[in-house]
Amino acid sequence: MISTNRIIIAIDGPAASGKSTTARRVARQLGYTYIDTGAMYRSVALKAIEGGLLESIRRDPGQVASILEGISIRFEGERILLDGRDVSREIRDNRVSREVSFLSSLKPVRDCLLVMQQALGRGRGVVMDGRDIGTVVFPDAELKIFLVADARERARRRLLELQAKSEGKTALPDIETLEREILERDRADAEREHAPLRKHPDAVEIDTSKLDIDQQVEMVYRLARKTEAAG
Ligand code: C5P
Repeated sequence: MISTNRIIIAIDGPAASGKSTTARRVARQLGYTYIDTGAMYRSVALKAIEGGLLESIRRDPGQVASILEGISIRFEGERILLDGRDVSREIRDNRVSREVSFLSSLKPVRDCLLVMQQALGRGRGVVMDGRDIGTVVFPDAELKIFLVADARERARRRLLELQAKSEGKTALPDIETLEREILERDRADAEREHAPLRKHPDAVEIDTSKLDIDQQVEMVYRLARKTEAAG
């Protein structure tokens, strides 16, 4: 049954903690829209890489304005369109994963995406996942979740994902490398000056290390129904 009291559900947490799978499935069950804000930051990083602008932005961060000017990032169902082009696959490349924390630490990037994200959630009935949704984008979200999991477990999940995607066709990084990259990204996201990864004091923390995806989804879904009913 679709509720008439539609809320905003903010799901934050470190890399590969199960945010997007949980958020996507909870949104489907509630009849809500799912918004993957990591995909938006990844799109900005992809644009910088493809435009060959990374080095000049590193030297002079002000240069990032040239990427943001007129940028269009749209969701079409499960796909993400950057300036009208479907980049759903490209944004998952390892190169993008390595550079995205740098781009997402820049204030002009955050300001630009913040406006887009707040507009996307205006009608409520959204599940939005990221790093700063409960703290910065929607501090008034009725339900805030903070997902955490062991770094080794997160690396294991990421490896399984990569194995499924590559179907044995490409060489994959080992689990130690993946764990190191994940921890490095967490550190950069938590230590940056603007909108760092933080748990909002009201957020419900769920450790997913020992939960399977169905259990994770069920927990968040129940909390969402309870919050809808209380509103
Ligand atoms: O969620 P995902 O791992 O795809 O996010 C990629 C990167 O985008 C994060 O490591 C972080 O640097 C950035 N990000 C962010 N704020 C968000 C969502 C993602 O800074 N709300």
